[in-house]
Amino acid sequence: MSIEKINKILEESRDEMVALLKELIQVDTTNLPGDEYLGVEIIQKFLEKYSIPYEIHSQQKGRENIIIRIGEGDKKLFSAGHIDIVPVGDLETWDHPPLEGHIEGTKMYGRGTTDNKGPLVALLMTAKALWPFRDELNGTFIAAGVADEEKGSVYGTEFLMEEGLIDADWAIIPDIGGNMMAIDVAEKGVLDLEILTKGISAHGSTPDRGVNAIEKMAEVIEILRKHTFSFNEHNFLSPPTMNIGVVNGGSASNMVPDKCRLIVNVRYLPSQKAGDIKNDLALALASVKDTEISIIHNLNPTEVDPENILVGTIQEETKRITSKTPQLIGLGGATVCKTFIGKGIPAVGWSPGPDDVAHIANEYIDLDEILDFSKIMAGVVKRLLK
Ligand SMILES: [Zn+2]
Repeated sequence: MSIEKINKILEESRDEMVALLKELIQVDTTNLPGDEYLGVEIIQKFLEKYSIPYEIHSQQKGRENIIIRIGEGDKKLFSAGHIDIVPVGDLETWDHPPLEGHIEGTKMYGRGTTDNKGPLVALLMTAKALWPFRDELNGTFIAAGVADEEKGSVYGTEFLMEEGLIDADWAIIPDIGGNMMAIDVAEKGVLDLEILTKGISAHGSTPDRGVNAIEKMAEVIEILRKHTFSFNEHNFLSPPTMNIGVVNGGSASNMVPDKCRLIVNVRYLPSQKAGDIKNDLALALASVKDTEISIIHNLNPTEVDPENILVGTIQEETKRITSKTPQLIGLGGATVCKTFIGKGIPAVGWSPGPDDVAHIANEYIDLDEILDFSKIMAGVVKRLLK
């Protein structure tokens, strides 16, 4: 299998790639309800044309996932695009109907073009191009179209992992934008803390007879705003952040409130621990009486070794096709990579598609770029499974 031959197959498949993407954009897979089966049916038809075998798995009818396995052997590289989309939002803000797949020059516009049907179609094209050479692969390329990414992957990746349907040595999650020039190798932890203050209720005309829980929370907020985290600097991640995101308290202007609740979102580094962050804050808040702090949600920070062969191979293969080397980056948000890394599978985010078009009007993708992505992905598969 020569990489030239594979590239040629991919180049000759450009019209098919564009038509397949357009077809996928035209089915409404807004999550909720998802209806990913609509996309799966289109992908099935495409695979059957080339007699490429596939599996369909779902935890709930309508929320189908499709998995393709190319080649055999111990080493496994996994990559998936998600079929679900976020709502199109206000139609007035779109220059073209969002579920049409309008093409202008080399760009296709529509909900899901970048997030994430464009990258998904590129993976399908890679699978198609590699299929005739499957016996030459020393390992398995697993490509999947998954459900429910926009609402926590419960019916998608999480379900597939729990069922033992995905196991891999490496994973590439093409869902970060960055025009293939960024590789996400580290992600901050995401910690939600709830802080409660307690007071004593009284009539609003005699506030001195009560203890005002909202005023106590004001003291808490003052302390939080001055708080500094202890952490070690990270090569790819900016310092930890804190956002005071929710405050609830009081029920009437003529009552002294006896309860107030705050939710704080902390994005933290691999050198920190959620429990320590909570304990440090509890200590800082000790001067405000009857205050409780607890963890209500936590995702640990994750990272892959930047020296991992997966990272270097993506960089070199991208350079071969685009003559530019992607940079390593860290993210303050969490992607599906966290799930893989949590299971011991090195996973990186790396994808075509511009930054800042996901979830907004006039989302688009450059069709030449997804063609390049399919070529680079084929090169990565060939090298990792050699
Ligand atoms: Zn999204």
